[in-house]
Amino acid sequence: MADFDEVMDFVIVGSGGGSMCAGLAMRSIGKEVAIHEKTNLIGGTTSRSGGVMWIPTNPFMARDGVEDSPEQAATYLDSVLGSTDGVPGSTKERRRAYLTQAPRMIEFLLAQGIKLTRVKEWPDYYDERPGGSKLGRTVVAELFDANELGAWREKLRLSFIVAPVPATLEEMMELPMLKRSWAVKFLLLKLILRGVLARITGKRWVAGGAALQGRMLKAAVAAGVTFRTDSPVSELIVEDGIVKGIVTVKEGRPWRIGSRMGVLINAGGFSHNQRMRDRYAPGTSVKWTMAAPGDTGEMIEEMMRHGAAIAQMEERVGCQMTLPPGAEASEAKPTAQAMTASPHAILVDQSGVRYMNEGGSYMAYCKAMLERNKTVAACPSWAVFDQQYMSNYMLAGTLPGTTKPQRWYDEGYLKKADTIEELERLLGMQPGVLAATVQRFNAFVSQNRDEDFHRGERAYDGWLGDAFHKPSMTLGSIVEAPFYALPVVPGDVGTYGGVVTDEFARVLREDRTVIPGLYATGVSTASVMGRAYPGAGSSVGPSFTFGYVAASHAKEQRVDFTTRHAPATVPSAALETAGS
Ligand SMILES: Cc1cc2nc3c(=O)[nH]c(=O)nc-3n(C[C@H](O)[C@H](O)[C@H](O)COP(=O)(O)OP(=O)(O)OC[C@H]3O[C@@H](n4cnc5c(N)ncnc54)[C@H](O)[C@@H]3O)c2cc1C
Repeated sequence: MADFDEVMDFVIVGSGGGSMCAGLAMRSIGKEVAIHEKTNLIGGTTSRSGGVMWIPTNPFMARDGVEDSPEQAATYLDSVLGSTDGVPGSTKERRRAYLTQAPRMIEFLLAQGIKLTRVKEWPDYYDERPGGSKLGRTVVAELFDANELGAWREKLRLSFIVAPVPATLEEMMELPMLKRSWAVKFLLLKLILRGVLARITGKRWVAGGAALQGRMLKAAVAAGVTFRTDSPVSELIVEDGIVKGIVTVKEGRPWRIGSRMGVLINAGGFSHNQRMRDRYAPGTSVKWTMAAPGDTGEMIEEMMRHGAAIAQMEERVGCQMTLPPGAEASEAKPTAQAMTASPHAILVDQSGVRYMNEGGSYMAYCKAMLERNKTVAACPSWAVFDQQYMSNYMLAGTLPGTTKPQRWYDEGYLKKADTIEELERLLGMQPGVLAATVQRFNAFVSQNRDEDFHRGERAYDGWLGDAFHKPSMTLGSIVEAPFYALPVVPGDVGTYGGVVTDEFARVLREDRTVIPGLYATGVSTASVMGRAYPGAGSSVGPSFTFGYVAASHAKEQRVDFTTRHAPATVPSAALETAGS
């Protein structure tokens, strides 16, 4: 029998989205649970993120009178995710489990005192499909005062939302419209007042993923979850094919921890591992990710070493980016998500041809870039826009109408020309190609219909654009000199493939048998969303949900894996209802 330095009821590897949810579920029945985080900060990429969770039929939709039902959500999910063939992470059972368990998970968190709400409008990314929601199914945490964490405050990883005034993600997204809306001017005033009040009262507001994980951390610490930072897990302890624990490091030496009720891996994906990218997602680069630094994939490889099947490894959650000089090295890289979906802008490949609807999900956008690049150079592609765009919209993290750094022009990042013909010469394109593309796009703008790619025909495209631009929120002519271009690359916010799990979050082998004692959630797993992104929060939502599912399953097991010799039996009847 394995000898352990310590034995716990439940051990969790990584402090990602599902970890604290699982930890709280375990503590709710008095079990001893420890979360091992290899970095010095808690929260993972989830903390860095917007903290948005895509949760169909969530209780806030009912509160706000937004229509949804399990049937409608299932119709939508199936219409976006398509066939279950070739996507072992997205079986019928796992889709059903997600739709059933996600709202239960939210109810559980609310009962634990985690303050959540919904974003009032964030359309599903394919809202035009059957069952799609134009107002959206997103759940977020309320702003959080990090001081409530006491001594744990400095341990919380912060979000990418760093604003001069304390603002939620939803509020931040409204600010670029400041010049054109009185409502947004009032909002800014409110935020300034909030900032002043925070100074007086000593509050330290954090938003987005940091608010979500901050609230989770506070609740988990209060409930008695043990946290160990700087505690990298290097190995699983496996005997007779049963996972019995983990090996981490304590005081510079290996520390073997047994886990009676199983081990949950919530250790993120492999965004920062170029070797794994070259193997599974060639053509993508660690330089273009915004994932937290711990996202290095070793736990996926460790599970593979013990027979775990993997799937969907080539999938990533794309994030179109534009990287001004110096930005590659920085953690907060400017996204170009709204940019080419805003009026007066388009995206073209290096030959000057437009090749996609610039609205839509960032995952679909970056996939289209990589796909195009197989036949025409398209990584980077060029965002092409005119002075109307420049005067009205954000550009690579800078405010509308502001002077751009001279370095951007000097180093060839931002191209500027008096005519489109001159711009295409600067971009090294065949004469006439870009001019024809722009002329065709302008004709679509005049008729308010994009015949090539249907940009603007779903609510989400418009939502990305400009609510004040008439008649289309996303289509606007490119006619006013000077004309500009800058490069856009298919970056990402994380990977989307990993080990295959079942509807109870148990890790499966190639032959679809269970590896006893091993659970996984988050982007360490092949996503329940298959190869698509149905709505904002399709990474964090599943991470939380399957963390909750794993703990619920483990709670019901009547086995002690540390002493077990034979393979574990089937789950109890109570658990067979996970997907029902
Ligand atoms: C800027 C940005 C915004 C985003 N916004 C959203 C959003 O609003 N909604 C959404 O759904 N998605 C969003 N995403 C994507 C999403 O945040 C991630 O895909 C998701 O949070 C991953 O969560 P996880 O639980 O799988 O792992 P993570 O939250 O990444 O946590 C994994 C943890 O495991 C640790 N770890 C790794 N290996 C080991 C080891 N060997 N031993 C111990 N610990 C280990 C890591 O250090 C890390 O802390 C965003 C991403 C970014 C970068």
